Amino acid sequence: MSGGDMAKPLLGHRNTEGDPSIRPAAGRTIGVLGSGDFARSLAIRLVCSGFKVVVGSRNPKRKAGLFPSAAEVTFQAEAVKKTDVIFVAVFREHYSTLCDLADVLAGKILVDVSNNTEINHHKESNAEYLASLFPACTVVKGFNVVSAWTLQSGARDGNKQVLICSNNQEAKRTVAEIAQVMGFTPVDMGCMSSACEIENIPLRLLPAWKIPIFLALGLFLCFFTYNLVRQVIHPYIREKKNKFYKIPVEVVNTTLPCVAYVMLSLVYLPGVLAACSQLYYGTKYRRFPDWLDQWLQHRKQIGLLSFFCAALHAVYSLCLPMRRSHRYQLIETAVKQAVEKKMNIWVEEEVWRMEIYISVGIIALGLLSLLAITSLPSIANSLNWREFSFIQSTLGFIALLISTLHTLTYGWSRAFDENQYKFYLPPTYTLTLLVPCAVILAKVIFSLPCIHQRLLRIRRGWEKGRYVKFVLPSATGEYSSGETSSNV
Ligand code: NAP
Repeated sequence: MSGGDMAKPLLGHRNTEGDPSIRPAAGRTIGVLGSGDFARSLAIRLVCSGFKVVVGSRNPKRKAGLFPSAAEVTFQAEAVKKTDVIFVAVFREHYSTLCDLADVLAGKILVDVSNNTEINHHKESNAEYLASLFPACTVVKGFNVVSAWTLQSGARDGNKQVLICSNNQEAKRTVAEIAQVMGFTPVDMGCMSSACEIENIPLRLLPAWKIPIFLALGLFLCFFTYNLVRQVIHPYIREKKNKFYKIPVEVVNTTLPCVAYVMLSLVYLPGVLAACSQLYYGTKYRRFPDWLDQWLQHRKQIGLLSFFCAALHAVYSLCLPMRRSHRYQLIETAVKQAVEKKMNIWVEEEVWRMEIYISVGIIALGLLSLLAITSLPSIANSLNWREFSFIQSTLGFIALLISTLHTLTYGWSRAFDENQYKFYLPPTYTLTLLVPCAVILAKVIFSLPCIHQRLLRIRRGWEKGRYVKFVLPSATGEYSSGETSSNV
């Protein structure tokens, strides 16, 4: 996994953490409209952060007991009068019921914390709708990506980022200041037109994982069917043997490493294709096709899924001897040997094959774990660029090489055994080798000095066929200028 995409900040916007222009705001009075889960958690966090809190409720007497004693719970209009910054912890559907407060709210900052139940539920964002209801107020969108639970348990136990947007810089700065005092990291998302995007964020379900998960499931399904045919259907049809018991463990366990290995090679394949494109066009400034761009951006997730499948394969493999079927087979073999009066069943080649196979498998899993751990933002942020690219690129490629060795020692000479071609289908491991071997071969070709140098030049900005100005000293000592093609 190259780190390009992983090194990017979570959001490509200005992070206001540590901004000296942000002044501490503790001590000021903050208003909260609403007395539900979010309002309560917000009030607790604000009080803990040193703010004075005044809560506006339709029924303050009934709700007062739910809030910390330091917070004042009063009627909505009373609360609004006491502060300039008001968090509107009320659902969008009830915004219109606040219109009676329009006069007292005039000139104040309203923080819209609301979320929707569906992505792009309404034409305009909730914050824009609130702004349209209260044109005399300044609306800031913020805090909606933080759950009531995170607010209550403190920023240390949840996502620390609070995304903020508004058309008013000063109001945005005030809310960012409050978020920072509460222990959150305010992230400036620009003007109010970003509110819709911010409101959609809590509703997205693993957006970056969709393609990698479908890819992994697709590969799993293909390899599972292939292995099922070879390991279960073939003996059933040809020898009338019932091997269906193999489906839950053995077939799954032969499928998982195939997925893990191919997925690992798919982490490096887009890099190879990108390099091919750069070599072919002789420039790094040409845009990659969208599908390649998408693929490059999903390498981290593909790598993590590869690790997940490899880890499952390790656990399944450790559990193989626990199965009843395995014990019966062992006893059966022992009985057969006794009947045939065989004393020595030691096959030196098999012993060595298995030792090497297990050892390289463990090393490959260890390297994959390292890649997975260093792709976590908190770890990745503690590495410099060289360390990160060494682990993700160099060690990752070594992991691919070792996994190839693991696969080859598993397959050994099976590819040359006629009996292994069930229904003329080659052993599964030979299929899994195709993409990884192509990637390894391409990497070897790219490391040849002539190609490596050209690729390096391209990545430093050199372009094929680009005309550059040159300046030459003339015989008289004067300088003459002209144009030439840089690739001459
Ligand atoms: P909730 O528990 O249902 O509270 C909503 C509050 O709105 C009520 O307690 C009520 O307080 C007040 N309200 C004012 N006018 C109302 C009316 N006409 N009808 C009904 N209630 C009215 O909801 P919540 O979970 O706190 O969520 C509040 C807002 O925060 C929502 O916009 C939600 O999207 C947002 N949010 C919540 C979370 C979360 O984790 N819960 C996270 C992010 C954002 P009074 O009866 O005292 O007036």
